[in-house]
Amino acid sequence: MSERVIPLVAQRPPALTVPVPAQPAADTPPPTDTLGRPLRDLRISVTDRCNFRCSYCMPKEVFDKDYPYLPHADLLSFEEITRAARQFVALGVRKIRLTGGEPLLRKNLEILVEQLANIPTPDGTPLDLTLTTNGSLLARKAKSLKDAGLNRVTVSLDGLDDAVFRAMNDVDFPVSDVLDGIAAAKDAGLGLDANGLLTGLKVNMVVKRRTNVDQILPMARHFRGSGITLRFIEYMDVGATNGWCMDDVLPSADVIQHIQQEFPLVPLEASAPGETTQRWGYANAAGVFDPALGEVGVISSVTQAFCRDCNRARLSTEGKLYLCLFATQGYDLRSLMRGAQATDADIASAIGHIWHGRDDRYSELRASMPADSASDGSSSARRVEMSYIGG
Ligand code: SAM
Repeated sequence: MSERVIPLVAQRPPALTVPVPAQPAADTPPPTDTLGRPLRDLRISVTDRCNFRCSYCMPKEVFDKDYPYLPHADLLSFEEITRAARQFVALGVRKIRLTGGEPLLRKNLEILVEQLANIPTPDGTPLDLTLTTNGSLLARKAKSLKDAGLNRVTVSLDGLDDAVFRAMNDVDFPVSDVLDGIAAAKDAGLGLDANGLLTGLKVNMVVKRRTNVDQILPMARHFRGSGITLRFIEYMDVGATNGWCMDDVLPSADVIQHIQQEFPLVPLEASAPGETTQRWGYANAAGVFDPALGEVGVISSVTQAFCRDCNRARLSTEGKLYLCLFATQGYDLRSLMRGAQATDADIASAIGHIWHGRDDRYSELRASMPADSASDGSSSARRVEMSYIGG
């Protein structure tokens, strides 16, 4: 076996032990962290495996047949995920996103979706239950996921040109199958809001210089007026295996400029507090936003950090609670849950306590670092991979 230069699962920094503080009084308001940020959004990674080998996420040279994926017994069971999610909801979470790895690779995922969809919120508002997928299995699964209670879905697609896309996913997967998955999601009604409008079906494209910048306009042309919102994501320095460097990042401002060459855009208001996406609407001939033409979004996690509003927690595949995508250590919720005595109230008070002490704002701090230190080995070598923590 070749020598590896990345931290493997067994060499990851040890998990942080979860404190179990005294339970707060029943009328204690939901926690905020040290920067006053509430807990609203939970991302749950249901598998660390993926059937794609995108070079910027799970490069083939690292994620090969010898890669030590988590054994099944280490994964949180659906019951454990639901139990944890219930406590997060009690503490303020209103949006749950299933992710991975590729979440649709997890067997019987519909059962988990159904369990999560049935979690009541304290104020009776419905949970927003969504999933991020590479779309490869979506044509087969869209209807059963919708029937199980999934509200909407975000599909990752990095280009429309088959050669570009096949090279990026690095498993020769064709664009047409992902487009079929998106069409199936639309047909199944994923992304329809309470008024029957298609507002929640999204496509995410990671933009990497020298790789798929020429796909920005074809993607914009394809999805403009389709009811599907296309969002462009800046290539991030997440994980330790993708060889990230700032030169590969195309700032979102340049993406918007690219699109403006062909389609006039007008800025739109954020649709929710803490939203990571800056929204731009397609304008009509009078220069006014035309909802029929739809909108695009940009997620500028590198050039315009949005830590200030970050209300997101992440539950890794093996049940560690991470407070930031760039964290190096997570809190071992699984041990607490598998321990004999922990009650639901203990788990909730532990999560609340951890959130209350949160001070993470990595992306803002990165923005103030010298350009070369953000990508040097010492600062990134211990970061966990996106496929494990959940993108
Ligand atoms: N397999 C699913 C998918 O493809 O959507 C879910 C997991 S994937 C890690 C989630 C998202 O993270 C994808 O849209 C992927 O393109 C994005 N992603 C992965 N590595 C990234 C990076 N270094 N910078 C920006 N986005 C990244």
